[in-house]
Amino acid sequence: MIDARAVADYPLVLEGKVREVRAVDDERLLIVATDRISAYDWIMPTPIPGKGAVLTALSAHWFGITDHIVPNHLIELVGDRAMLVRRLEMLPVECVARGYLAGSGWADYRATGAVCGHPLPPGLRQADRLPAAIFTPATKAAEGHDENISRERAAELVGADVLAEAERVTLALYAFAAERCARAGIILADTKFELGRDRDGRLVLGDEALTPDSSRFWPADAWEPGTSPPSFDKQYLRDWLDASGWDRASAPPPLPPEVVEGTRVRYDEALRRITEVEE
Ligand code: ATP
Ligand code: MG
Repeated sequence: MIDARAVADYPLVLEGKVREVRAVDDERLLIVATDRISAYDWIMPTPIPGKGAVLTALSAHWFGITDHIVPNHLIELVGDRAMLVRRLEMLPVECVARGYLAGSGWADYRATGAVCGHPLPPGLRQADRLPAAIFTPATKAAEGHDENISRERAAELVGADVLAEAERVTLALYAFAAERCARAGIILADTKFELGRDRDGRLVLGDEALTPDSSRFWPADAWEPGTSPPSFDKQYLRDWLDASGWDRASAPPPLPPEVVEGTRVRYDEALRRITEVEE
């Protein structure tokens, strides 16, 4: 057992925008979700109290109900916002599943009529539902944004057999989670998984899973193809930032208490709706 109060004593191996990764020993890591929030690629100067706990609870919830599809790295929760996990050798590709056309998928489709080598029917609109969910791998860019790659290129990076298994697992996780989200009134437009291999070479689900930071969650009642649906979690913050006159090129303004509270309530609501879905 690791004492939640001792988390900060473990050496920091990586500090992301939102999470920090600490080393416990050769076999285990601590992944700590902070209360930081980012928007338009900037970290806001004001944290959202409880956000790290919500994201951690959501990941843990999904890990608990998807291990019949693929084993995952979670060993145990440490306090309310850290996960003790098994260290994996992460695949150098991000495993993305898309059921709807948004973000870089929409941009690629508009430019080429395809996404990661999947030809798609003509005439699709932004936010349209795809005929079937697709696997769209991306490379993990050290700097800046991730880049979509073809499945052939991904197979070169990880091997054809591993990629086929990663695709199968990614689409099975997406189908399972999208159905759960639908019952919570939420569209899971797309989501990113990170898979790795354990010491026995088995494929294991790592990182966070099916959180608002790794997924597009849309409220089902606001979905309208042809428009960009509001995101469940950050749209409220983005709307406030847009109205604040901030230029997105300089340090963002501090968030007023009502914006902090409004954001916090939305994260809580996403967690509640998803975890209340009956088995
Ligand atoms: P960003 O803030 O843009 O997401 P980031 O991806 O560098 O930045 P995090 O996502 O916070 O930062 O870092 C988590 C890191 O830990 C990622 O590099 C991820 O691949 C890695 N990781 C997740 N789970 C494991 C694991 N079980 N074993 C080893 N590495 C892991
Ligand atoms: Mg990351």
